[in-house]
Amino acid sequence: MKKRVLITGAAGFLGSHLCDKFIAEDFHVIAMDNLITGDLKNIEHLFKLEAFEFYHHDITKFVHVPGKVDYILHFASPASPIDYLKIPIQTLKVGSLGTHNLLGLAKEKNARILIASTSEVYGDPLVHPQTEEYFGNVNTIGPRGVYDEAKRFQESITMAYHRFHGLETRIARIFNTYGPRMRLNDGRVIPAFIGQSLRGEDLTVFGDGMQTRSFCYVDDEVEGLYRLLLSDYPLPVNIGNPEEITILDFAKEIIKLTETEQKIVFKPLPQDDPMQREPDISKARKILNWEPKISREEGMKKTFEYFKNLSKEELFKSEH
Ligand code: NAD
Ligand code: UDP
Repeated sequence: MKKRVLITGAAGFLGSHLCDKFIAEDFHVIAMDNLITGDLKNIEHLFKLEAFEFYHHDITKFVHVPGKVDYILHFASPASPIDYLKIPIQTLKVGSLGTHNLLGLAKEKNARILIASTSEVYGDPLVHPQTEEYFGNVNTIGPRGVYDEAKRFQESITMAYHRFHGLETRIARIFNTYGPRMRLNDGRVIPAFIGQSLRGEDLTVFGDGMQTRSFCYVDDEVEGLYRLLLSDYPLPVNIGNPEEITILDFAKEIIKLTETEQKIVFKPLPQDDPMQREPDISKARKILNWEPKISREEGMKKTFEYFKNLSKEELFKSEH
């Protein structure tokens, strides 16, 4: 009998790669998504498999799944700044009500649950690189607060279920992850820059470009998440790639990679945009025996290949 795993947000970028991973590891995958930012195209290759089923469902409403569930990976949530600014109340609801529903289901099924938290719980960090012990610096009432605070609440309620109900919980603090199946127009910096290069547009760097990020290739991220789920560690673990770069240098790298001659133009920095971000992954190294293996150069090549093969129509459509 295969182990059964429920994956929420399964039609999204990370969720769809997790579906692939758990199918490859011989699990039965129950995928759930309301398609608000996801796309069935990301998982359509799995529909023919007996070990795969899909529920079109909004997880802020009561969640029911028939049969046994051994594991839950809770990944449903808008994840890019333009998405969560467009649907702020939904974002708060999915992190709070949605997480409550999934924790309730985990309790009923006696399942272990891993929740997708984020480096955004550190806000605009005053500690660098960020360790799991850092409490963060979040503007609760700023526009990004809808995402950051939903994720902070998500961590709190998850720990409460762990402590009060003895539920088996895992918390992944995911740092910027990239790769194939990101939505070209989701506004995140990698699809934004690659899309601009492919369309022959200038690259839009926000602020002076001196803010930093650390980008993790999706295959590395998924391996870290898989190991965390199967570990016995209930406290948050940073999962990301510690190689840090300024956004301006990153724009230059993209121009080189795409062999285009686009100019860089500077646009205003969005409010509360974190100035630096780099995970301290000592904990993941020690507890999960995990660290990223794929360099930014290699990961970006694979990602560029994916976007290059999109149709002209997809490349130029503004938003779905
Ligand atoms: P994504 O937008 O590609 O995927 C999110 C998925 O959740 C989409 O398919 C969407 O339709 C679904 N969804 C949203 N609200 C829902 C609801 N109410 N009911 C059911 N489904 C719903 O984003 P992603 O990058 O794959 O992110 C997945 C998760 O990982 C999110 O929880 C995000 O906060 C977290 N995360 C991602 C990153 C990253 O760099 N990609 C970093 C930190 C955290
Ligand atoms: N960014 C940018 N130009 C863009 C999109 C994003 O300079 O067209 C910047 C953004 O201001 C941020 C960084 O790139 O400093 C990463 O943004 P993203 O939305 O990918 O992730 P997050 O801010 O959530 O880490």
